[in-house]
Amino acid sequence: MTQQLTCAPIHVVGGGLAGSEAAWQAAQAGVPIILHEMRPNAGTEAHTSEDLAELVCSNSFRSDDAEANAVGVLHEEMRQAGSLIMAAADRHKLPAGGALAVDRGGFAAEVTARIGAHPLIDVVRSEVTGLPDSDWDSVIIATGPLTSPSLGAAIGAHTGEDALAFFDAIAPIVHFDTIDMSVAWKQSRYDKAGPGGTGADYINCPMNKAQYERFVDALLEGETTEFKDWERSTPYFDGCLPIEVMASRGRETLRFGPMKPVGLWNPHLGGARAYAVVQLRQDNALGTLWNMVGFQTKLRHGAQTRVFRSIPGLENAEFARLGGLHRNTFLNAPKLLDGSLRLKTMPRLRFAGQITGVEGYVESAACGLLAGQFAAAERLAQTLPPLPPTTAHGALLAHITDGHLSDDTPDATGSSQRSFQPMNINFGLFPPIPTPDQTEDGRRLKGKDKGRMRKLLMAQRALADWSRWCAEGQHVLAAE
Ligand SMILES: Cc1cc2nc3c(=O)[nH]c(=O)nc-3n(C[C@H](O)[C@H](O)[C@H](O)COP(=O)(O)OP(=O)(O)OC[C@H]3O[C@@H](n4cnc5c(N)ncnc54)[C@H](O)[C@@H]3O)c2cc1C
Repeated sequence: MTQQLTCAPIHVVGGGLAGSEAAWQAAQAGVPIILHEMRPNAGTEAHTSEDLAELVCSNSFRSDDAEANAVGVLHEEMRQAGSLIMAAADRHKLPAGGALAVDRGGFAAEVTARIGAHPLIDVVRSEVTGLPDSDWDSVIIATGPLTSPSLGAAIGAHTGEDALAFFDAIAPIVHFDTIDMSVAWKQSRYDKAGPGGTGADYINCPMNKAQYERFVDALLEGETTEFKDWERSTPYFDGCLPIEVMASRGRETLRFGPMKPVGLWNPHLGGARAYAVVQLRQDNALGTLWNMVGFQTKLRHGAQTRVFRSIPGLENAEFARLGGLHRNTFLNAPKLLDGSLRLKTMPRLRFAGQITGVEGYVESAACGLLAGQFAAAERLAQTLPPLPPTTAHGALLAHITDGHLSDDTPDATGSSQRSFQPMNINFGLFPPIPTPDQTEDGRRLKGKDKGRMRKLLMAQRALADWSRWCAEGQHVLAAE
């Protein structure tokens, strides 16, 4: 760390996943930071603590596989760049098959403590209620999907863009001691042991065909919460569809989605495969709370309790938290932001995290990592090398800046137009890579094998390009 005690501070607004990482990255480059977090003085619909980097729903950072999964590549890139969020996640990981799940309390407490102890970071607990005055000449706004209404209104008024909004839905959490383990069993899909896992990290609740059909009927008949006026015309994000919306798309949709039975064998029935399976993932270090995987919902609480207790093994389930609705606020980033996440019309303001239209904890933190580095370089009057689009960070940045077809940008045919939607990292965002038709030892590659090879090559290219970029960037930031 190069101490820049005399340079003016960067203001980071919002101490969530993105803001914490942004503050950390810029401070590690030697720039003083003032981090403004409104909790506990003001709250959001989803946060329940005053910790920085609180995980508001699932405790999963998703796949940790850096060879076959794009979010695993993003994890690895973040680790290489000295990410605080990844360091805390690795320290507080829980068994979860191939996924990186964390003990949410331990994770957030660690981020809060390390930010609080950083000599260049000053944490101020107050809400920023409007666009900051010009004496804040470098600002990172990382206020997330639940940006406070007054700041949201100020941003909307300035940009002239209506912030888009849509629903995500929270999955229910069940007390372990209320699950009937004489019906359910512990097993990861295909017994796969992920980081810190045993191969038996999920609780599986089996259904036969008749039970599944009754369950789908119950979901479809369940009473849902009303749409508010402002919510009526907002579309769902496809990666986070409520379970009852999935059910309404076809009777088999759930069996091919969150309730797929493959790779799971019921030991209570001599290893038989079930017709459908509901999976629960450990939610806290003690193992007392379990999260219903993929069961985000907007069913009313009464309907949730009734319908979810019809799942074999959950007949007597007690819920620590039921599912619910939440809003999501994000900018039309491809139109509004430049390639280093600055607002084109007011470049002293940068945006980071979910408000830019990335989706997910990891993506939000990765976006914060970039914003922190970009802002630090700017403050130190240094120029970072261009971010390779072949890296996971580069692919994400391209999605929210110039890589996506937005409302006003015709596609390649000049005819259809697509609107900007938040996106999890995925290999579809990476530039294509030539994939050989056979392996080095002469084995022909086709179908899924070729797809796996393509992902592996993209992942290897990403990590190699990222490590070069980090080395050059560190050189630049250390140059002052
Ligand atoms: C209810 C809900 C459930 C979600 N579930 C998941 C999930 O299961 N998995 C997943 O990967 N992603 C999930 N997401 C999406 C997203 O990944 C998370 O919201 C993530 O926390 C976004 O990170 P962020 O840093 O952009 O925002 P946040 O982590 O929300 O951080 C924003 C911070 O800014 C503060 N703030 C807001 N306005 C102001 C202001 N005016 N002044 C000062 N501080 C302010 C807030 O208090 C908060 O601490 C969910 C989102 C929501 C809303």
